[in-house]
Amino acid sequence: MSLGSQPRFPLAVLPTPLQEARRLRAALGGPQRCPRILIKRDDLTGLAFGGNKARKLEFLVADALKQQATVLVTCGAAQSNHARMTAAAACMAGLGASLVLTGHADEALQGNLLLDHLLGAEVHFVAPNEDRAIATGDEQDAMIAAVMEALRARGERPYLIPVGGSSPVGTLGYVAGTLELVGQLAAMGEEPSHLYYASGSRSTQAGLELGKRLFSAPYRLQGIAVSGGEPQKTEKAVRIANEAAEIVGSAVRLVPEDLRTDQAYIGEGYGIATPACLEALSLLARHEGIFLDPTYTAKAMAGLIDHIRRGLIAPSETVIFLHTGGTPALFAKVDQMSSLLNTPARVEGALHAASPR
Ligand SMILES: *Cc1c(COP(=O)(O)O)cnc(C)c1O
Repeated sequence: MSLGSQPRFPLAVLPTPLQEARRLRAALGGPQRCPRILIKRDDLTGLAFGGNKARKLEFLVADALKQQATVLVTCGAAQSNHARMTAAAACMAGLGASLVLTGHADEALQGNLLLDHLLGAEVHFVAPNEDRAIATGDEQDAMIAAVMEALRARGERPYLIPVGGSSPVGTLGYVAGTLELVGQLAAMGEEPSHLYYASGSRSTQAGLELGKRLFSAPYRLQGIAVSGGEPQKTEKAVRIANEAAEIVGSAVRLVPEDLRTDQAYIGEGYGIATPACLEALSLLARHEGIFLDPTYTAKAMAGLIDHIRRGLIAPSETVIFLHTGGTPALFAKVDQMSSLLNTPARVEGALHAASPR
């Protein structure tokens, strides 16, 4: 197995911290009701406000450089964390970035989209379909092909990164991420029984599942889906995991039955907050000072909290929550968080804070 010899371009600040969320556990009923929760802080990977895409991009950018590319091309939602981190990675590697985003030319310049512009990326929009979240695959594919063609005509060498960085090469990010985590757990003497994470385009899942088998991680993986598309997405995860296994020369192969993804916390759709995800977002902010986002990590945490409340995880167990980032999207979703605004948790505390020291 040859993970260490794969080309890798350093982008992330690693290892990310693994922190116990004691006050969250207390808020969820304490040791009688709630397992210990360790948060793997991949929101702190450091690449332009962090997130899980930094790990994938280390392998993707190295592959692009190996192929002598001059521009990274990728696609996503208008508030895509992946697009923002791809644009930042391009800056660090001396490459250009061209982003094909779902949205309109008058999209609010907030959150990730604002950062895309500050990073100097070229932004192209494809109109959303009725779901309002994502363009139809055909329209997006046509726009990507046109962008690639225009770049070639200008003498550039474009490198296409699929949505979410979910290619076999991108999958290596969470194979390496698993090696890092398993090392931390060993050093801390921890043997968690579960790892919960938000699942979208699936190379996080593919990398975690392959990494778990390669490095004998102790936990069972539980994905929480943030968008629909089963069973195709599970099949995609299996395919890219198996191709990644081939890249590193491992004989490990996954089958769809190996993967567990809970579909119950998507709500109305991708990027649309649910009451449970807003509760999770508020709990983490007010008890741990940690920010989740309503598109990905708050839905994953809502899933973990619900599984704990339903007794699916015993209080004696230890769980890891993989915080995959998404912080900048918070600023573009203020309208979805109105129920959390202007609700002081403790009036007494607020008065105290206002009085002079
Ligand atoms: C992209 C993303 C995910 C999902 O990762 P995939 O590998 O696409 O499944 C989860 N959380 C955040 C914040 C993301 O940006």
